[in-house]
Amino acid sequence: MRTLTRESVIYKFSPENPPIFSVEPGETFCVQTDDCFRSQIQTETDLVTDVDFSRINPATGPIDLKGIQPGDILAVDILDIEVGKQGVMVGIPEEGAFGDRITDAVTKVIPISDGKFFFTDEIAFPIQPMIGVIGVSPSDGEVPSGEIGEHGGNLDAKVMKKGARVYFLARTEGAMFALGDAHAGMGDGESVICGVETIANVTLKLDLIHPQGFAPQRPVVEVDDKFVTIAHGSTLDEAAAKALGDMADLIRYKTKMNDPEIGMLISAVGDLKVCQIVDPQKTARVEMPKSALGLLADSPILP
Ligand code: CA
Ligand code: CA
Repeated sequence: MRTLTRESVIYKFSPENPPIFSVEPGETFCVQTDDCFRSQIQTETDLVTDVDFSRINPATGPIDLKGIQPGDILAVDILDIEVGKQGVMVGIPEEGAFGDRITDAVTKVIPISDGKFFFTDEIAFPIQPMIGVIGVSPSDGEVPSGEIGEHGGNLDAKVMKKGARVYFLARTEGAMFALGDAHAGMGDGESVICGVETIANVTLKLDLIHPQGFAPQRPVVEVDDKFVTIAHGSTLDEAAAKALGDMADLIRYKTKMNDPEIGMLISAVGDLKVCQIVDPQKTARVEMPKSALGLLADSPILP
């Protein structure tokens, strides 16, 4: 299997970035991701206040999918996420939900072994690997890889896990996909400002889809028996409203139901969830069971 190493990273999503790796539709390949600190924090004496902030949130790529054009849909299958042997967490004064309770920068190293991460020697949890930063190039301009846009980016959505299929609207030739910021575990909200930050080897497959009258502007995910819309906003309310609107648009495309009925369907069985509240742009998602559309769990939601 061809591998793109974690040497090749970007710190902004931009059409100016030259592609570093090129894949055929359907090819299975591996991408090594660095952690969100570019591995600058390895021990509990390495503090977040001492790291080089120009090297935060690296995303490995960009990866050029041969043949994909602007307006096509990029389908990303996350086939596996193998995390590193340790994770790190940090607390930063005046940052995150607990910034007023954290007086000094602090680092916690979290060993990972046997499929578990050890928060302490006594408290261990099964790993739940997920990808924090994932996206394609915007059509123009640049977006730092720690930020969020319609192209994706620092979404920090727990649904970006093994078995997920993620759809992005391609905005440039080749789509220029990149990803990073893996977590061995993260709670919805990412409240302190991080998950269990770790390197990872991610096995992926990319495909291109020609839209049939509908192309989502923001990321859509299918995972387990659900389909999911994800959106961002300067407040959680704004992010939630956009994610709900995206879900309504997707259901209208799939079912031709009218708006009140779609609203009732989402209100009956859709779960609105917080992704993260710690970045200037917040992210929220809406999860719907595929059975709401009469689809089987393995039926693709697009095109
Ligand atoms: Ca993140
Ligand atoms: Ca992170």
